[in-house]
Amino acid sequence: MILCIAFICLQGCSKNDNSENKEKGGKDKKIHIVTTFYPMYEFTRNIAGNMADVELLIPSNVEPHDWEPSPKDMLKIQNANVLVYNSKFLETWVPNIQKSLGNKGPQYVEASKGIHLMKGVAEEDSTAKNKQTQMDPHVWLSPALAQKEVTNITQTLVKVDPKNKNYYENNSKTYLQELEKLDKAYRTALQNVKKREIITQHAAFGYLARTYHLTQVPIAGLSPDQEPSPAKLGELKKFAKSHNLKVIYYEEVASPKVAKTLANEIGAKIEVLNTLEGLSKKDQEKGLDYITEMEENLKSLEKTLNE
Ligand SMILES: [Zn+2]
Repeated sequence: MILCIAFICLQGCSKNDNSENKEKGGKDKKIHIVTTFYPMYEFTRNIAGNMADVELLIPSNVEPHDWEPSPKDMLKIQNANVLVYNSKFLETWVPNIQKSLGNKGPQYVEASKGIHLMKGVAEEDSTAKNKQTQMDPHVWLSPALAQKEVTNITQTLVKVDPKNKNYYENNSKTYLQELEKLDKAYRTALQNVKKREIITQHAAFGYLARTYHLTQVPIAGLSPDQEPSPAKLGELKKFAKSHNLKVIYYEEVASPKVAKTLANEIGAKIEVLNTLEGLSKKDQEKGLDYITEMEENLKSLEKTLNE
């Protein structure tokens, strides 16, 4: 409620700041694109190159599942030409913003649009915020589906900024080729592995598993902050033992506590499988990006699934 009231004020006040030189899409001005979390930022930057300003909205050390926009963030969105987000099942606050901004808002790109989403695994905690069937939003973790997201983002950039159509389309083509290469590397490496089961910290790898014929067994549901019940832990222990699994995967942004607990109990190791839900500035400065991290994920999968 407090957010709503503050927002109305900002909307009203912002009119005074909107002098002509701030007007959206002026002739020689670069368009301004706000992106929600890391993969949306990275995909968009690869298409936009230096012809558009691309901003990351959700700080890289914050879990995007839990994040909500502040009034300041809402103003950023209002003043942008484009907002790129992954899915209303992850950035659940987007439909509300669309409603409140009406035609004052930016162009919206739901990057997962047109991808057939899977139902999420049953939520352990029935008091969770969203009681309706949750669809799984983690499509960017399948390099094959990431290509569809890049295509969707490209189409909107071309529409909003047609003078740079060729530039965006060429960048997009180059990046799609890199994603294609990544997809092939996954297909080849995972074709004949000894095991096909992965225990992950939260259910982020459903599309990756589906694309490359693995079975994901998540400790938590679609969001990483759910604690598993003792019964669920017992089931996971049994599953790990019967499939001779020696690795529990955890992720970098969320706390690895539950993964560690389970690993200790069954004498397994823990290893990182990066969900890319955030990538720190430091890592980005080191040259790490979506492609390099997905290659790391593949190395790790290939090793553990052949153990
Ligand atoms: Zn997630």
